[in-house]
Amino acid sequence: MAKQIKRWVERLQLTCRVGLVSLCTITGCDDTQSVEGGTAGAGALAGDPAGVSAGEQGGSGGEGGEGGAVPLGPPPHLSAPKAMLFNLDPIIEDYTRTEVELTTTTHEDGRLTSHAVKVFNCLNEPGGVTFETDIGLEEPLRVSLCREEQVARPDQDGHYLSVRPSSPTSDPNDSFAELMMYYHVNRAYEYYLTQHDYTRYDEPLKAVVNVQLTTNYPDYYLDEPNSDGYFPVENALFVAEWEGELTSEVSDVFKRDRDMIVFFQGASVDYAYDASVIYHEYAHAMVGIERLRYMALDEHGVDSSPRALSEGIADYFAASPLNQSVVGRYGLNNRSRDLATQYTCPRDMIWEPHRFGRVIGSALWALRERLGAVLTDRLVFDAMLLFHSSTTYQEASELLLAQAELTSSEALEATRAVLTEHGLIDCVRSLPWETFSSFTSSTGYPFMVGSLVDAGLEGFRATGAPDYYQRHVDLPEGAEGVELAWWIESEVAAPPSSLSLAYRRGALVEFRYDPLELIMDGKVRPPSISQVQRVVFARRCFINPEGDDATDRLHMIFLNHGVRSVIVPRLSIEPLESLEGLTQVETCEPPPPEAGTEAGTEAGTEAGTGAGTEAGAAP
Ligand SMILES: [Zn+2]
Repeated sequence: MAKQIKRWVERLQLTCRVGLVSLCTITGCDDTQSVEGGTAGAGALAGDPAGVSAGEQGGSGGEGGEGGAVPLGPPPHLSAPKAMLFNLDPIIEDYTRTEVELTTTTHEDGRLTSHAVKVFNCLNEPGGVTFETDIGLEEPLRVSLCREEQVARPDQDGHYLSVRPSSPTSDPNDSFAELMMYYHVNRAYEYYLTQHDYTRYDEPLKAVVNVQLTTNYPDYYLDEPNSDGYFPVENALFVAEWEGELTSEVSDVFKRDRDMIVFFQGASVDYAYDASVIYHEYAHAMVGIERLRYMALDEHGVDSSPRALSEGIADYFAASPLNQSVVGRYGLNNRSRDLATQYTCPRDMIWEPHRFGRVIGSALWALRERLGAVLTDRLVFDAMLLFHSSTTYQEASELLLAQAELTSSEALEATRAVLTEHGLIDCVRSLPWETFSSFTSSTGYPFMVGSLVDAGLEGFRATGAPDYYQRHVDLPEGAEGVELAWWIESEVAAPPSSLSLAYRRGALVEFRYDPLELIMDGKVRPPSISQVQRVVFARRCFINPEGDDATDRLHMIFLNHGVRSVIVPRLSIEPLESLEGLTQVETCEPPPPEAGTEAGTEAGTEAGTGAGTEAGAAP
C-alpha cells in the first residue's frame, strides 16, 4: 500500500506539473467567507517560521502597538502601491527585483484583493480543508491542507516594499508569494481585457499560494516532510468548478464551488515566484474547463491531442504576453518548456499532455515570429474561443486557418506554413517501432497505455482500450521475421495486465464505431514472463497474399484489457534470419477462403461512446 500511495503521488507529479485538471474537477470549500469575516490581520504572519518580513508591521488598526510605544494608525490606502518583485522569475533576473506598481486593492486595509484576483496565503497550521477516505489502510487516509488566509498587508506607508522573497525559497508561509501572485494575475487580467476584450469572471478569481499538506500516513506519502510536518508539493494547478468525477480520493481536498488557481510550495521552489507559471494557470482559467477536457476518438483509436492542446495553448499564453519563449524557467527548472524549440507531429507525440503540447506551443511561437505578437495572439485567442470539449490538433489547425483567412492572405499563408512544418495538419498517429528505453530517451518518459477505467474508455471493453498511437514495422532486408518485445509495469503494487497487440498489413488498424469494430489482420496477447511480452512476426505477415512478394509495412496498436494503465518503459525490435525453434511466432497464415472479408474484424459492444471520452480531468 505504501508503494501504491507513492506511485499515485509520483504520477500526480508526473502528470500535473504546472497544472492538470484530473485533480481539478471540483466543487465545495466555502472558506472564503470565514476568512473574510475573520480577524483581519490579527494572525498575519504568525506562522512564518523564517521570520521573513512580510509587511506585517502595519497590521490592522491598533494591533501594531505591540512593537512600539506609540500606536500607529492604519496605513494609507494607496491607488498604486509599490512593491519589489520579479518581472519574470528569479533565474533570469538573477534574484534582482524590480520596483512595480500594484493595482489598488478593493479593501481599505490593503489585503490583496482586486476586481481580478483574491490572493490567499496558505499557512502551515491547523484549520485547513481536510479530507478523509478509506483506501484499505488501518484507518482512513486523512489529508489536510494548510489554512487559507489573506495575510499580506501594506507597510505603514501604504506600500509593500518591505515584503521580500524568502531565502531559501522554501518558506511555506511567505507573503512575497502572495504579492507575486497579485501583481501578475492583475497584469494577466489586463492583458486579456485590453488585447482580447475578454473577462471570464464577474468576481475576483481566487488564487492560493504556498500550499502544502499533511497526512496521517506520513511514512507512505511524499518524499520528505518539512520540520513542521507539512509536505512540499511540486506543482501548480487550475482547479475548476465542475460536477464531474474525481480521479483520485486525495484530490477531494481541492473540491471547490468556484474556479481557483493553486500554487504549491515545493521543497525548494515556490511556484508563485515564476510569472510564466502564473500566466500558464491563468490561461487555463481563461480557456475554461468546458474546453479541451476530453480525449477524442477517431478511426485510429484515441486522440489525446485535446489535452495537449490545452497545455500548449496555456504555454503560449504564458510566453507571448511576457514576451519570452520559456515556460517554467524557475518553476520547472530542467523541465521548463521553450516554445522556440521546434516540436512536430507525429515525432513528438507522447501521452503526457504538457510534453505533447509543445507541438502546438512551438508552432504558435513560430507563427508569432512571422506575424508578430499582436496579430498571432488575436488569431490564437479567437480560434480558442471556438474550441469545444475535445477539439483536436487537426480541428484547432483548421480553426486557426479559418481565423487567419479572415485576417489576410499573408496571415493565411504563414499559418498554413507553420502548421505544416510542425506536422499539425493531417498528422497520422503512428510511430516507428524502435528499440526504446525511458531511461535513455530524450523525454525520459515511458509510454503508457491507458486503461478502460483510467482513460474513461469503457466503450472499448470488448476490444481493450487502445493506445494513444499506433506503431509500424518494416521487415528488414533479408529477414525472415522480427521479434518485438515490450516491458510492462503497473502503477500499483499489483502486476500489470498484459497487453494485446492488434496488427494490420499495409494500413493502420482501423476503429469503427457504432458498433465498435476493429479492422485488422489479427491480434496477439503473448504471455507476460517477468513482465516482458514477446512476439515474432514471420515474414508472411508483411506480404500481401494477393500481390507479388514485396513486403508491406505492418501496423500495430496496443490494447489494454485491464482496469489500470500499463506503463511501457522499454521496447525492442530484433530482425531474425531464421525462425527455427522460436515460440510465440505469428505466422499470419491466410484465412480459409470462406471466411472472406469478415475474418479480420472484431465486433465490439454497443458503441464507442461517440464524441469524447473522459480524459480523467483537465488542464
Ligand atoms: Zn497546464
